[in-house]
This record gives sequence, structure tokens and C-alpha cells, in this order.
Amino acid sequence: MNYLSTRGAGAGERHTFSDILLGGLAKDGGLYLPADYPRVTADELTRWRTLPYADLAFEILSKFCDDIPADDLRALTRKTYTAATYCNVRDDESAAQITPLKTLGVEDGAPLSLLELSNGPTLAFKDMAMQLIGNLFEYALAKHGETLNILGATSGDTGSAAEYAMRGKKGIRVFMLSPHGKMSAFQTAQMYSLQDPNIFNLAVQGVFDDAQDIVKAVSNDHAFKAKYKIGTVNSINWARVVAQVVYYFKGYFAATKSNDERVSFTVPSGNFGNVCAGHIARMMGLPIEKLVVATNENDVLDEFFRTGIYRVRKAAETYHTSSPSMDISKASNFERFVYDLLGRDPARVLQLFRDVEEKGGFDLAASGDFARVKAFGFVSGSSSHDARVETIRDVFQRYDTMIDTHTADGVKVAREHLQPGMPMIVLETAQPIKFGETIREALLREPERPAAFSGIESLAQRFEVVPADAQRVKDFIVAHTGE
Ligand SMILES: *Cc1c(COP(=O)(O)O)cnc(C)c1O
Repeated sequence: MNYLSTRGAGAGERHTFSDILLGGLAKDGGLYLPADYPRVTADELTRWRTLPYADLAFEILSKFCDDIPADDLRALTRKTYTAATYCNVRDDESAAQITPLKTLGVEDGAPLSLLELSNGPTLAFKDMAMQLIGNLFEYALAKHGETLNILGATSGDTGSAAEYAMRGKKGIRVFMLSPHGKMSAFQTAQMYSLQDPNIFNLAVQGVFDDAQDIVKAVSNDHAFKAKYKIGTVNSINWARVVAQVVYYFKGYFAATKSNDERVSFTVPSGNFGNVCAGHIARMMGLPIEKLVVATNENDVLDEFFRTGIYRVRKAAETYHTSSPSMDISKASNFERFVYDLLGRDPARVLQLFRDVEEKGGFDLAASGDFARVKAFGFVSGSSSHDARVETIRDVFQRYDTMIDTHTADGVKVAREHLQPGMPMIVLETAQPIKFGETIREALLREPERPAAFSGIESLAQRFEVVPADAQRVKDFIVAHTGE
């Protein structure tokens, strides 16, 4: 499998999966995609239907990572997707499925269900990919005798998913910046209670943007970055996207009896990483009818799929909402879909994303390309705080099921796109305990808490308070890498 950049630089070069695994953007600022999407055959779909999750993951990933020996890849997926890691299930029978499908009921003639993606160590869907990345990174670094220092900034979900994926991994250290005193008690405890010596929590005296600016400043110091082997695991990482393709297949098999049936998926979206994986599953030939993009009040993506206009927001126009993991001003993985939408024309992609940087967006409304959005199955909708609260309440009363705020945005928008007889699967992206405040508002009760998390707030915490100063963060890294 050869990988290329959406902006076309180095078109003649070969990049394997391992070449791009530890990197971020391509040299020209584009994103990596496979030169062709592998197609699944009818026989494969039949054979895969009954596979355990880890083996399904092996089958799908082996099409994209053919440079990793099959035995090694199979060992990696079997080590990653275990019932012991994805153990935070609501009923014990479903742990072995890794991503159990929970049926809600039939609405407007459409069977409606939730695909549980948040049973991993940090109770959010980012664990699905990040746990694999942890094992892949460790494997790749050991092979070349290298080490990596992951530097990141987080306001919650991504940072903890990265820490739980990298804890105890050989050759890897994590330096994670978070805004001091700005996260919920639960989120803070989740991250800071980790005692692994390769995990460093830096509580920055400032807000999230200060933490992010420090990461940018350190990464722009190319000499420092090279000397201290600084890397990242942000949402544009190709391996993260491809790991997420697997559960679309798993969800499809759980919701259907034969491969002649079609299903639709609704995806609570922010950086377009999750739904991009759905697009790739569909391009591989999985019978997906619609891919419904659900946004919150930050409706950059909904605006595009309704109008053809992609208009990124400024910081002041980006709202802080009660589904905070979808509070984005531009969708970092969106370029991958635009590349396919434009018939894989890198020169046009380059021009459009220059327009994003220079003019704040682009308009495809009048072009024939936008009409093809439907052929790719995409539709969209947006939600709001009131709709979120109302949906949490309704799903609890009607189906005795507690859902988190992001999943609630998904259910709200899914209901606007139901078709009689067509199963609709909403991706559940987090558990309610992570966003307890809104649960209390909607249901006047405490969110459900998985057993493993009881009393987590009172565990000993390990973190370092640092001023919002890139030099002090560099000093800390130097002092803790022993190089
Ligand atoms: C990250 C996240 C999202 C958004 O996913 P994208 O891949 O960025 O579109 C939605 N819900 C939750 C809970 C998340 O953590």
C-alpha cells in the first residue's frame, strides 16, 4: 500500500504505512491517504461477519499496513482489543464484543441503535484508535531502536486517551499540557492519578490556548524537536483514522443478518476523524446508505454539507458548549474527504486549503462537485444545549438508557434522517460520567459511574505546575529525558 499527500507533493515517492505512522502532516501541509482504497469482496464480508473484534481489526488493517508482517500485526490487534481493556460495559455479557450494539427501539419505521465505542480505559471513543497506536508505536520504535517523546496539549479527552495508551510503553514518554484547574474533577483525576514513570502531566498556569501555543512553539523549534525526538498523536494521524474503520464493519454486522442489507450511521463530529473512517469503510464497499454528520452549535461541518460553503470560525466565534469535544473552529481531517470529493485532484485541494488559510474558507455551492456529496452518502444536522438536554431526558425515559452529551447530539440529528426499514446506528462517543453536569441538569440525578472509577477523585495525583512559558516546558523535557 502506497500513501500520498492530498496536496500532491512528492507524488513519485513511496510512503509505506510505517513511514507515515510516527509523522503528522505531509511535507506540503497535506494529509496522507492511501493511493487506492482496498475493496472488500463479498466472500470477505461473509467470512468477517463472525470474527471476534481483534481478528476483524487484523483483516481490515492488513489491507492498509501490508508492510507489517502478518503475524506481528495479528499479535498487535489481539493485544489491543481485549475484553479486559474494553471492560467498562454496562452489562457483562457484552464485554467480549469490544463495541457492543445497544438496540433502542424502532422510530419512524427505522431500527435505532447505539454502537458503544466508549467502554475503554478513558470512557471515550478515542480509546478505540489510541490503544492500538500505543502498541503500534512501541512496536515500530523497538524495531528501529528509537525513542519518542510525545508532546501534547489537552482540555480533556484526547490527552487522557493518549496517556492511557502510552503508559508503561517502552521507548515512549508523554509530556501532556493541560490548563491548571480548568478541567472537571473527574477528568483531572483520570489524568493526574496515573503514576507511570513515563507519563508527565504539566498543569499550565493559563487556559487551553496557552497550553496549545506552548506545544506549537516547542514544535517550531526544529533543532529542539529533532534533538529530543518530539512527536504528537493528534487527530490527523492516519493510523488513528484507519483503526476507526474497523467498528463500522463491526456495527454493520451486528445490525444486519445478511450482506444484502444496508445501514446508516450518525456520527457526533468535531475534527471529522471519526466520520472520515466511515467514509473510508463505505469506499471499501461496506453497504452504508447514509453517513450523517452531527455537530453541536459549532456547525462548520453542518454548514458545508447543507450549503457547499466551508467557512472556518475565529476563536471568538467558537462556542464553549456542553458537548465540548466537538467545539472546533475547523475540522482538521476534512481535507481527506474533500480530496475524494474533488476526484482526487491535488492541485485543486491545494488551492482550496490555501483559500482556507488566506480567506477563511471556500465555496463549492456552484460547482458540480458539491452535487456529488449525496453520492458519497453524506447528510448533516446540528444540535444545541436545549436539544441535547431534551434528548438525554427522552432517551432515558423512553429506553431507560443514559447517554452522554455528544451521543445526544448524534441521536438528535439521527432522528432527522430516519428512513423506514433502514437501520440507523448512532456512534456512542463517550459515557455520561464524563459530562456529569449536563446529566444532572437533564435527569436531576447523578450519572452512572463504571465500577472501576469509584472514588477516582480521591486517588493520589502526580503532576507538575508550570508557568505558561515554552522555555520552562523545554527545560522540564530536557531534565526528564536523560539525554
Ligand atoms: C473527539 C470526540 C468527538 C469528535 O470526534 P472527531 O473525530 O473529532 O470528529 C466526539 N465526541 C467525543 C466524546 C469525542 O471525544
